[in-house]
Amino acid sequence: MAALGVDALCVSVGPDLPYLTGYEAMPLERLTMLVVPRDDEAALVVPRLEAPRVVELPEVFRLEPWDETDDPIARVAARLGRAGTVAIGDQTWARFVLALQAVTPDVTYRSATEVTGPLRAVKDADELARLRAAAHAVDEIARDLRELSFAGRTERAVHREIVERILDAGHERVNFAIVASGPNGASPHHEPGERVIETGDVVLCDFGGTMQGYCSDITRMFVVGEPSPQVRDAYDALTVAQQRGVEAATVGTTCEAVDAVTRSVLAEAGLDDLFIHRTGHGIGMDAHEDPYVVAGNSTPLAPGHAFSIEPGVYLPGAFGLRLEDIVVTTDDGPVRLNDAPRDLAVVA
Ligand code: ZN
Ligand code: ZN
Ligand code: ZN
Repeated sequence: MAALGVDALCVSVGPDLPYLTGYEAMPLERLTMLVVPRDDEAALVVPRLEAPRVVELPEVFRLEPWDETDDPIARVAARLGRAGTVAIGDQTWARFVLALQAVTPDVTYRSATEVTGPLRAVKDADELARLRAAAHAVDEIARDLRELSFAGRTERAVHREIVERILDAGHERVNFAIVASGPNGASPHHEPGERVIETGDVVLCDFGGTMQGYCSDITRMFVVGEPSPQVRDAYDALTVAQQRGVEAATVGTTCEAVDAVTRSVLAEAGLDDLFIHRTGHGIGMDAHEDPYVVAGNSTPLAPGHAFSIEPGVYLPGAFGLRLEDIVVTTDDGPVRLNDAPRDLAVVA
């Protein structure tokens, strides 16, 4: 905070709060806000009825419960004192930010991610163990899906099955389970629907959840019957692009350089125009967080950075392909957390 010229940090709902305190606030119209002045004690301003759920950590923060008729915004403002620059959590509800701005006209607000993003991006050993456990849980599901018959089932039915398996595998929450068949695959974040999967379809499955507070995220590809030569060739190129992207993710390499590697492999195959998104995103308590593997991000990778490498090829009206693993940069090189088979699985 001192280095960034931030006098106080205010975080509400979203992962910054559990990252700093171990407490995850319910997204409610009643304000919960951790106020961390640069040179003073941190206080968690919390509705009194939520306070029993908070595990107090007196060496980290004080608890400041507010009653139904109190004004929590006034309490936060009082804690801010003479702060001139306040970093506020990205996911704080606009109504609270507006109310706070109204009573602190001289404060300059900045994004809390400037403070917390680089901290959260570098995972310690305990966080890596959680990410690895979550990755292995979805690896098992990806393996099991290879034995599933897809033909004749709707996307939604396969989606429901994946959701159930994610929970059965020990995740406390499912974040998404994309099942995109045939031409639906060309929309990277397709919402699974009533389309019935047919012979010849390429099926993209991208799913993940939260386990012990940390996220999983994997994409594997399935084809009902034999793939066409066009799909086969595109998937071969995609596999090489993903492999090269992973290999490039060494300490000191910039995020944009890693993105350029996957893109250049697909360009050699004439497929770069069909790769319509960034190469990857950081992952931790949030499914998408720093560091983003994208052109324009000159952040150098450091040991402990965890992120996806997920190039894709999307041919409108025909199919979509994506291959995604979570990767950690270490002093000994990049390490994949996922180990489910990466080939195009031929299914019934
Ligand atoms: Zn995505
Ligand atoms: Zn992802
Ligand atoms: Zn994904």
